[in-house]
Amino acid sequence: MAYSFLNAKYKWRNDVIKLDFHPAGRHFLQIPGPSPVPDRILRAMSYPTIDHRGPEFGALGLKVLEGIKKIFKTKQPVIIYPASGTGAWEAALTNTLSPGDTVLMFETGHFASLWKTMADRLGLNPEFLGLPGIEGWRGGVNAQMIEERLRADKEHTIKAVCVVHNETSTGVTSDIAAVRRAIDAAGHPALFLVDTISGLACADYRHDDWGVDVTVSGSQKGLMLPPGISFNAISQKAIEASKTAKLPRAFWAWDEILASNKTGYWPYTPNTNLLYGLSEALDMILEEGLDNVFARHDRLAEACRRAVNAWGLPIQCADPAVYSPVLTGVMTPEGVDADRVRKVIYERFDMSLGMGLGKMKGRMFRIGHLGDCNDLMLIATLGGCEMGLQIAGVPLAASGLPVAMAYLASESKERTLKHAA
Ligand SMILES: *Cc1c(COP(=O)(O)O)cnc(C)c1O
Repeated sequence: MAYSFLNAKYKWRNDVIKLDFHPAGRHFLQIPGPSPVPDRILRAMSYPTIDHRGPEFGALGLKVLEGIKKIFKTKQPVIIYPASGTGAWEAALTNTLSPGDTVLMFETGHFASLWKTMADRLGLNPEFLGLPGIEGWRGGVNAQMIEERLRADKEHTIKAVCVVHNETSTGVTSDIAAVRRAIDAAGHPALFLVDTISGLACADYRHDDWGVDVTVSGSQKGLMLPPGISFNAISQKAIEASKTAKLPRAFWAWDEILASNKTGYWPYTPNTNLLYGLSEALDMILEEGLDNVFARHDRLAEACRRAVNAWGLPIQCADPAVYSPVLTGVMTPEGVDADRVRKVIYERFDMSLGMGLGKMKGRMFRIGHLGDCNDLMLIATLGGCEMGLQIAGVPLAASGLPVAMAYLASESKERTLKHAA
């Protein structure tokens, strides 16, 4: 346990939580964001805070503004906000749309639902496509449904299509290129807005190739940073739309930020130390190579799914074509409260797992295997899950560890790297 203030009895909601385990070793932060922050990034962030109008800052600003484009695979501007991902969601909508505009959104899970609620609050008119009940939360975006809806919109009242790339509440990574093709096939001029807050730097993402107009992302997932930075990668079409969009915006407005960014500065005080961290994260990711980063995520995710299958528990994502490399959602059997399993694991093994969100509350837990994660971290994570499930009395078909270990041992790193090259 890293922080001594937690090493005491404390009250949380109605429970007095006793953290009486030996506080040795590291906490296992296996939630799908925030993900563990590597020491290299923590050290970079500990440099003294500098003058955000001075010459050194300008050099840092230009480096991160240029470097982040490689991660989004774009040659167009990327806006960096000192805000959580939710702020960048708001920025994407308010910069491009006007009050009452219809936006077509797709219900893949809790985060898609939150973005839709935000659109309501901002005075937009969101239309929510999706499958009813829990089924829609077990698969990805259905591009054909989007195409059909756009074809029916002869007057072009729909101004934007908004989808979540990696739905962190379920463990599903949707096919964004297919949604682009659907918009084009319908010959519809709507803007294309994508949330890849948890997908960026974990799963392949191509802002330019996929013709995305605004890509929203955040710092605390694949980028391995603490929370507090978020992004809008934008297109020329989005910039054009921002010139006539009527939703009020001030802090989020792209025009002033783009003007300041030309010389590496911001119109207000940016989060200097997090930007040191971003600079370090970019170095780390680009040194490893984006394709190798993606291959590492795919491999860990596959090992995790094999363990879950061996346990005999259902994976939340029911469509293997859209399994997420970021996290795996594990459904608990009928009558087993997944939050109780998580509590056991937290108290006994000092490991945090993601909770079931929204419709899935208490029905599943989420294992994060993103960012700064390697083979042994995953094996330890699966070991903690397996012991916790046993303590909680969940019947398992078999141990998942030998299966995951056999896969990781046979799929050598070299082979995976060559495969990705
Ligand atoms: C984490 C996350 C968000 C919310 O970001 P915050 O930084 O918590 O505001 C939104 N969408 C997705 C897909 C996420 O994973």
